[in-house]
Amino acid sequence: MSKSSISFWLLLILSVAPSLAAHPGAHDRDLEEESVTAEKKWTLVIHGGAGSMVRDSMPPEKDAAARAGLTRALEAGSAVLKKGGTAMDAVSAAIMIMEDDEHFNAGKGAVFTYKGINELDASIMDGKTLGAGAVTGARYTKNPILLARAVMEKSPHVMLSREGADEFSREQGLEQVNPDYFATPERWRQLEELKAKKLGWYDVDLKYGTVGAVAVDGAGNVAAGTSTGGLTGKRWGRIGDSPIIGAGNYADNRACAVSATGAGEFFIRLGVAHEICARMRMLGEDSKVAADHVLKEMALLGGTGGVIVTAPDGTATFSFNTPGMYRGKATSAGDKMVAIYGDE
Ligand code: ASP
Repeated sequence: MSKSSISFWLLLILSVAPSLAAHPGAHDRDLEEESVTAEKKWTLVIHGGAGSMVRDSMPPEKDAAARAGLTRALEAGSAVLKKGGTAMDAVSAAIMIMEDDEHFNAGKGAVFTYKGINELDASIMDGKTLGAGAVTGARYTKNPILLARAVMEKSPHVMLSREGADEFSREQGLEQVNPDYFATPERWRQLEELKAKKLGWYDVDLKYGTVGAVAVDGAGNVAAGTSTGGLTGKRWGRIGDSPIIGAGNYADNRACAVSATGAGEFFIRLGVAHEICARMRMLGEDSKVAADHVLKEMALLGGTGGVIVTAPDGTATFSFNTPGMYRGKATSAGDKMVAIYGDE
């Protein structure tokens, strides 16, 4: 080794040694810091209802409004997950946006009952604890998904109904609105059409319009939420699948999170959301196989609709037997999509 290269190495050792002595384990700490700042893997999937949406008969402004609403909901939920927030918070955030958007049948823009009022149903479930909350026939809470969550977190119960749910909501200090807030001219028109044509339960435009979200967060926990006005012209205190844990909504870290939309009576009869998770947990099916199988069984009974599913490994599935489903997905890997029609 030449004299000049020896002095180069000596200089290098002398300049580096003090900093190594002053920062033992500095390299380890860098790695730690990196893992704290690096975004953990997450997935968010949403729906705004399944139904008879076909490209040729969809007015362009309706198409654009639905896509904009879905995009805003995805952004709200993604922002929570990006910051390291929980799946429960992401699901609530995404659903609140769609409840506030009158293009969806949940919160503002909910469908009317036969008597011309809005009765709101919602449910939420935490896959980590199997904690769940639901409300049915609520009339005054601006964001029913928050009321479902309050039932889960602040009451010893899973499901509250009608006046009792409204009373609990006021006690919890949730934002209250005059029932007129939920009403829109388009939903009134749909009710009139149903009455004039004596249409059946599932006929009005066949766009169910319920909203839902499922997510897996950076800690690998899943959650599911669903919110709806139910079916146009519903009578006699009818309750659909959306607020029924296991039918229209379910989350279990051992399997998946599911939110459904469609002809609620069929989802209730098959316990669709729980059935999908049970198949994944006990038969080892992936989310696509499980969801397609259960929806096929439902179709045999005459039921139509769709589900969104995500699993703790971040995989996600849309499955529906209607021509379309308002839907969207975002992930930590940068995927972001919204779609309406079956061919997208
Ligand atoms: N599943 C809801 C119900 O039966 C309707 C919907 O999905 O739009 O109440």
